[in-house]
Amino acid sequence: MTALILDGKAVAATVKSEVAAKVASFHRSPGLATVLVGDDPASHSYVRGKRRDAGECGMISFHHELPATATQAEVAELVDRLNADSAVDGILVQLPLPGGLDSEAITERIDPSKDVDGLHPHNLGLLTLNRPGLRPCTPSGVLRILEHYDVDVRGATAVIVGRSFLVGRPLAMMLSAKGVDATVTLAHSRTRDLAAVTRRADLVIAAVGVPRMIGAEHVHEGATVIDVGINRTDDGLVGDVDFDAVVGHAGAITPVPGGVGPMTRAMLMSNTFTAARTRG
Ligand code: NAP
Repeated sequence: MTALILDGKAVAATVKSEVAAKVASFHRSPGLATVLVGDDPASHSYVRGKRRDAGECGMISFHHELPATATQAEVAELVDRLNADSAVDGILVQLPLPGGLDSEAITERIDPSKDVDGLHPHNLGLLTLNRPGLRPCTPSGVLRILEHYDVDVRGATAVIVGRSFLVGRPLAMMLSAKGVDATVTLAHSRTRDLAAVTRRADLVIAAVGVPRMIGAEHVHEGATVIDVGINRTDDGLVGDVDFDAVVGHAGAITPVPGGVGPMTRAMLMSNTFTAARTRG
């Protein structure tokens, strides 16, 4: 068996064109503010991509850069200004912030109605309660790609490897929500015999940050494998899944690059439109 390749780039393009169509029939252009602190090259490249996406979707992007030496108070003051700016519907503070800055405090300072990353405790609380709110972009992207390819999640056994608040934990809540209905196991670095746990799954999702750690022995024949990992190595960008080893017997698999990464960016655009529509 050779797995079906779940093409995140193509699905992301579909999501972005749907957002662009909604923006075109909205009474104003939504505004996305991006905040970049310091000079991490990867963060610069991520923010450039997000601003380009915003432009392609017909949104206005407001970009702010602060030096790596910026203080907590300076970043907080910028967030306060963006919270008060009626032209700004979404605020994205690119993480990680330089050492010494408290990123949780900055995330919590963002007006929850403008929290397009979906990481404010208010929005994570709404997610826990399965009530409408802005959802974290990467888990939303995973759900969207599964939906696009009609992967049958209802009643399926899903194992997520990684329990971060950015990916694994919110994804577990989204997959196990009423109406989505997967039976979810959240595995982590203390899980005993990980391969035995993941081999039971119809759906394996890797969000670990360890290059190619999920191998053929972790995946049962025909399972769907979603690779959230983005690891910069000497071989370039690689996922948490050993793609070459798994593609031969999985039923479907996302590549890296070109899988979940583009979906995350597309869901940011979707969230920004949702924030704008909710704000009116
Ligand atoms: P994180 O906060 O470092 O969390 C990693 C998780 O993996 C933790 O729960 C950790 O367990 C678990 N883990 C580490 N080593 C393990 C092992 N050997 N066996 C089992 N579990 C293990 O990472 P993150 O922010 O969730 O990111 C995970 C990966 O996704 C990274 O490669 C990141 O770059 C990527 N990512 C991609 C996107 C995207 O758009 N595609 C977005 C966000 C993140 P403990 O809790 O026990 O420590």
